[in-house]
Amino acid sequence: MRGKARRGLDYTPLFRFLLSRAGATWDSVYSEAIGRLDRPDPIFWLVARHESERRDMVRVGESTWFSGLFVDEDGILRLVNPGLRAEDLMPDCSCCTHTLNGVRFGTKT
Ligand SMILES: [Zn+2]
Repeated sequence: MRGKARRGLDYTPLFRFLLSRAGATWDSVYSEAIGRLDRPDPIFWLVARHESERRDMVRVGESTWFSGLFVDEDGILRLVNPGLRAEDLMPDCSCCTHTLNGVRFGTKT
Protein backbone atom coordinates (compact mmCIF):
# COMPACT_ATOMS: atom_id res chain seq x y z
CA MET A 1 0.00 0.00 0.00
CA ARG A 2 1.33 3.40 -0.86
CA GLY A 3 -0.06 6.89 -0.75
CA LYS A 4 -3.71 7.69 -0.36
CA ALA A 5 -6.71 5.62 -1.21
CA ARG A 6 -7.00 5.37 -4.94
CA ARG A 7 -10.24 3.47 -5.27
CA GLY A 8 -13.03 4.69 -7.41
CA LEU A 9 -12.62 7.24 -10.12
CA ASP A 10 -8.99 6.53 -10.91
CA TYR A 11 -9.89 3.07 -12.14
CA THR A 12 -12.76 4.16 -14.34
CA PRO A 13 -10.62 3.85 -17.51
CA LEU A 14 -9.70 0.30 -16.48
CA PHE A 15 -13.33 -0.63 -15.83
CA ARG A 16 -14.42 0.87 -19.15
CA PHE A 17 -11.64 -1.06 -20.89
CA LEU A 18 -12.72 -4.35 -19.29
CA LEU A 19 -16.37 -3.79 -20.17
CA SER A 20 -15.47 -2.92 -23.76
CA ARG A 21 -13.68 -6.27 -24.06
CA ALA A 22 -16.64 -8.45 -23.07
CA GLY A 23 -16.67 -11.26 -25.63
CA ALA A 24 -12.89 -11.24 -26.06
CA THR A 25 -10.34 -13.83 -24.93
CA TRP A 26 -9.58 -13.31 -21.25
CA ASP A 27 -5.83 -14.01 -21.59
CA SER A 28 -5.38 -11.14 -24.03
CA VAL A 29 -7.63 -8.79 -22.05
CA TYR A 30 -5.79 -9.58 -18.83
CA SER A 31 -2.31 -9.08 -20.25
CA GLU A 32 -3.33 -5.75 -21.77
CA ALA A 33 -5.01 -4.61 -18.55
CA ILE A 34 -2.17 -5.68 -16.26
CA GLY A 35 0.28 -3.68 -18.39
CA ARG A 36 -1.45 -0.48 -17.31
CA LEU A 37 -1.54 -1.27 -13.59
CA ASP A 38 0.90 -1.52 -10.71
CA ARG A 39 -1.14 -4.35 -9.20
CA PRO A 40 -3.83 -6.70 -10.49
CA ASP A 41 -6.38 -6.24 -7.69
CA PRO A 42 -8.66 -3.66 -9.36
CA ILE A 43 -9.24 -6.00 -12.28
CA PHE A 44 -10.87 -8.46 -9.92
CA TRP A 45 -13.16 -5.90 -8.38
CA LEU A 46 -15.14 -6.31 -11.60
CA VAL A 47 -14.11 -9.73 -12.87
CA ALA A 48 -15.35 -12.56 -10.62
CA ARG A 49 -12.75 -15.24 -9.99
CA HIS A 50 -15.29 -17.73 -8.64
CA GLU A 51 -18.85 -18.47 -9.59
CA SER A 52 -19.99 -17.44 -6.11
CA GLU A 53 -18.45 -13.97 -6.65
CA ARG A 54 -20.47 -13.15 -9.76
CA ARG A 55 -22.57 -10.02 -9.40
CA ASP A 56 -24.84 -8.26 -11.88
CA MET A 57 -23.32 -4.99 -10.79
CA VAL A 58 -20.37 -4.02 -8.63
CA ARG A 59 -20.18 -0.92 -6.47
CA VAL A 60 -16.82 0.85 -6.81
CA GLY A 61 -17.67 4.11 -5.09
CA GLU A 62 -20.42 5.59 -2.98
CA SER A 63 -22.85 5.73 -5.89
CA THR A 64 -20.75 4.43 -8.77
CA TRP A 65 -21.52 1.02 -10.23
CA PHE A 66 -20.14 -1.07 -13.03
CA SER A 67 -21.46 -4.24 -14.62
CA GLY A 68 -19.98 -7.44 -13.18
CA LEU A 69 -17.86 -9.67 -15.41
CA PHE A 70 -16.66 -13.25 -15.32
CA VAL A 71 -14.60 -15.62 -17.44
CA ASP A 72 -16.55 -18.50 -18.98
CA GLU A 73 -15.39 -22.11 -19.43
CA ASP A 74 -14.00 -21.27 -22.89
CA GLY A 75 -11.81 -18.49 -21.47
CA ILE A 76 -14.00 -15.68 -22.79
CA LEU A 77 -14.73 -12.55 -20.75
CA ARG A 78 -18.51 -12.23 -20.26
CA LEU A 79 -20.98 -9.88 -18.63
CA VAL A 80 -22.77 -11.52 -15.69
CA ASN A 81 -26.02 -9.88 -16.78
CA PRO A 82 -25.87 -8.59 -20.38
CA GLY A 83 -29.41 -7.20 -20.06
CA LEU A 84 -28.56 -4.84 -17.20
CA ARG A 85 -29.29 -1.23 -18.11
CA ALA A 86 -28.95 2.02 -16.20
CA GLU A 87 -32.51 3.03 -17.10
CA ASP A 88 -33.90 0.00 -15.25
CA LEU A 89 -32.16 0.86 -11.98
CA MET A 90 -33.44 2.78 -9.02
CA PRO A 91 -31.02 4.69 -6.79
CA ASP A 92 -31.08 4.10 -3.03
CA CYS A 93 -31.11 7.83 -2.31
CA SER A 94 -31.95 11.01 -4.18
CA CYS A 95 -29.04 13.19 -3.07
CA CYS A 96 -26.24 11.62 -5.13
CA THR A 97 -25.45 11.19 -8.78
CA HIS A 98 -25.69 7.44 -9.38
CA THR A 99 -24.04 5.93 -12.42
CA LEU A 100 -23.79 2.49 -14.00
CA ASN A 101 -20.85 2.19 -16.40
CA GLY A 102 -20.71 5.97 -16.46
CA VAL A 103 -24.41 6.35 -17.35
CA ARG A 104 -26.47 8.29 -14.84
CA PHE A 105 -29.62 6.64 -13.49
CA GLY A 106 -32.54 7.54 -11.29
CA THR A 107 -33.18 10.91 -12.85
CA LYS A 108 -36.25 11.83 -14.81
CA THR A 109 -35.91 14.56 -17.37
ZN1 LIG B 1 -27.17 10.23 -1.74
